[in-house]
Amino acid sequence: MAKGRVHFHIDQCKACELCVKFCPQGILGLDENVINILGYHPASILRPQECNGCGICALMCPDLIIEVEKE
Ligand code: SF4
Ligand code: SF4
Repeated sequence: MAKGRVHFHIDQCKACELCVKFCPQGILGLDENVINILGYHPASILRPQECNGCGICALMCPDLIIEVEKE
């Protein structure tokens, strides 16, 4: 059961993967099916049901484009 909900402002993502590397659940990845307006595959959540709501992804993003809502 998910304990948090994560939202990405995908058009500002530069695909640096910091959020991907630091998510303790290992549930983030780049979405290879999407190209944003900057020309990158943006980060997305692969298994939303496993999010623990810790907020580490939002803290790590240098562009502040992730919002985490605790459930
Ligand atoms: S809130 Fe925590 S568990 Fe959920 S995606 Fe972000 S880093 Fe991963
Ligand atoms: S840390 Fe931010 S800019 Fe980097 S991949 Fe994640 S969402 Fe995109």
